[in-house]
Amino acid sequence: KSGFVAVIGRPNVGKSTLINSLIGQKIAIMSDKPQTTRNRIMCVLTKPDAQLVFLDTPGIHKPIDKLGEYMVKAAEGTLQEVDAIIFVVDANEKFGPGEHYILERLKSTKKPVVLAINKVDLLEDKEALLPIITNYNGKYDFAATVPISALEENNLEGLLDEVKKYL
Ligand code: GDP
Ligand code: MG
Repeated sequence: KSGFVAVIGRPNVGKSTLINSLIGQKIAIMSDKPQTTRNRIMCVLTKPDAQLVFLDTPGIHKPIDKLGEYMVKAAEGTLQEVDAIIFVVDANEKFGPGEHYILERLKSTKKPVVLAINKVDLLEDKEALLPIITNYNGKYDFAATVPISALEENNLEGLLDEVKKYL
């Protein structure tokens, strides 16, 4: 099994940390420069049962100028070509216009979207997770919902297992 996976989400939700943890080390191929219009390979992960190519998807945000519009189009092009999308959100942030905007863009792709609720290590009360899961799933038909901690490398295999189903 092999395939392409787009990792998307608002800034600071932990996309880079997730990729770092998946790959097991800090790697040079990972670039964090924003405002790049080209789609970039963040990393290639080779597992015994699957090879996953992770793509950064810059530009999924509300365009404020012509360049922004171009980037949104480029990002939408990427999303058409992947096998699955990981939508990363921060468990400690309220669902806001940023998330709403991204989900609106994802709808038209008709691709499986796996929701990764990140930074669950920061939740003081683990009971708080359920309403977050319920809230997000009321807003989009996710292929799966996986709570993770990218930083503490918690449940990343669970996330990969869900993604692998769509390769
Ligand atoms: P990106 O902008 O989506 O690529 O986000 P980054 O990966 O750069 O992470 C933004 C900040 O959140 C950094 O300070 C990370 O250390 C922190 N962070 C990322 N994942 C986690 C997590 O699972 N738990 C905690 N506590 N912090 C995290
Ligand atoms: Mg980043």
